[in-house]
Amino acid sequence: MPSPSEMNFCPHCGHPLKDKLKYGKMRRTCEQCHFIHFYDPVVAAVVFAVQDNCLLMIRRAVNPEKGKWALPAGYIDYDEAPYEAAAREVLEETGLEVRITRVIDVLGRDTSTGAKASIVILFEGEIIGGEPSAQDDASEVAFFAPNEIPVDDIASFKSLDLLLERWKSAS
Ligand SMILES: [Zn+2]
Repeated sequence: MPSPSEMNFCPHCGHPLKDKLKYGKMRRTCEQCHFIHFYDPVVAAVVFAVQDNCLLMIRRAVNPEKGKWALPAGYIDYDEAPYEAAAREVLEETGLEVRITRVIDVLGRDTSTGAKASIVILFEGEIIGGEPSAQDDASEVAFFAPNEIPVDDIASFKSLDLLLERWKSAS
């Protein structure tokens, strides 16, 4: 998470920014054009998709948790609809088309890893097409039954722990 002190110059007029109390917090502020720098939350989508009682997982090709098994996931772009972003991430990483069926949960920042997201939306998806093939931020794609999850080799994301726990207790 970049600290507010990392932005030193006004993105509008180039004037040096100063820390000022604005809307209840110290925020980088421009005294020349009155620009206030607000940090927007970074929002990530995680997709939980089960087919024939097996969970779709990817091996991560990027940090954090590079080389570990996790769920298809990625950042929601500023102008993107959340459901579309979630489906796009699955397609980009696994080659599979999903229909997002519901929101399972919404979590705050996960401090257990170097994950940047401040809001994590957990979606449920139904696979409706495509062929599994690892791409983009994934090096492998696989489906695991509840008792086949590679527990010693999974990413330590809180969202993943939570989803696996709920799935195993329901199955
Ligand atoms: Zn300015």
